[in-house]
Amino acid sequence: FNSQLAQLKDLPAETDDGFHVTLLTNTGLLADVSPGLVNGAEGVGLYRSEIPFMVHDGFPTEDEQYRVYKQVIDAYYPRPVSMRTLDIGGDKQLPYYEIKEENPYLGWRGIRFTLDNTALQITQLRAMVRAGHGRENLQIIVPMVSRIDEIKALRALLDQVLKDLHNEGKQATAPKLGIMIEVPAAILLLEKAAPYIDFVSVGTNDLAQYLLAVDRNNPKVSRLFDPLHPAVLSALEMIQARCKTLNLPISLCGEMAADPAAVLLLIAMGFDRLSLSAHRIPMIKWVIRNTSRKDLEKLLIKAQKAEDESEIRRMTKRKLKTLG
Ligand code: PEP
Ligand code: MG
Repeated sequence: FNSQLAQLKDLPAETDDGFHVTLLTNTGLLADVSPGLVNGAEGVGLYRSEIPFMVHDGFPTEDEQYRVYKQVIDAYYPRPVSMRTLDIGGDKQLPYYEIKEENPYLGWRGIRFTLDNTALQITQLRAMVRAGHGRENLQIIVPMVSRIDEIKALRALLDQVLKDLHNEGKQATAPKLGIMIEVPAAILLLEKAAPYIDFVSVGTNDLAQYLLAVDRNNPKVSRLFDPLHPAVLSALEMIQARCKTLNLPISLCGEMAADPAAVLLLIAMGFDRLSLSAHRIPMIKWVIRNTSRKDLEKLLIKAQKAEDESEIRRMTKRKLKTLG
């Protein structure tokens, strides 16, 4: 079976009836680059820039960041690379910079932290833009957005960085800018956000956590965490529909993109860009190539009627069994 999966590397992730899915990878370690390419990743859908910060013994300098980012951008060129700005706080702590809060998941996270530390954010944006120069495959994505003014502030920093680099005689190309949809408020702001952004990526790990008010790392409630919860699925349908109306490119990069059961439903909803761990790409591609979208749409209609995730899991399990 594994050798069968390996043969899929250069084949498209396409259903029987021609629905094409682009499979990208989530990464943050240079060590992931070659597994990503070996497994046929069509780009990086989510580069978690906090990972190089975590493995460092202090905030990395602009040049240190530049060297790391450039290796990723170059390795994937001409495939797209979405680099996310620093996303610390919550479950992500830097060993050299402790953030102590009573309620870290509702606290100083992602864009909130970096907009309060503009020098740090500017340094990172400079490193990213410099690393992407001459390689128009770089895109920048912003985590934990819950307000329009955050997007505008980040865009202003990016414009400043481009101007500064230009004034310093360094050439710089403006990357596309996107936001993560992972705080429920962002769903309801999509229409207002659209003029300021080029794309969105749905982070279902945090989105499900915030929609369900469940910390999946808390053993007392983690059984309540499942992105197949009907409310989460319904939110995903809403996001997909709104982005379609707004003509806003959309991808999905939470763990559910690596779950075959979830992928069946995501395809039915129309998600056609998924980003996941490289080692799961062949399996997900196999599932996609062995289904038809028409069939999955019927499955989705049934799933929409279910009252809870266990009912939905049973349906998807039955479907997956028929695939082989
Ligand atoms: C997410 O929240 O779904 C996501 C992809 O971001 P992270 O897992 O890095 O928080
Ligand atoms: Mg997240």
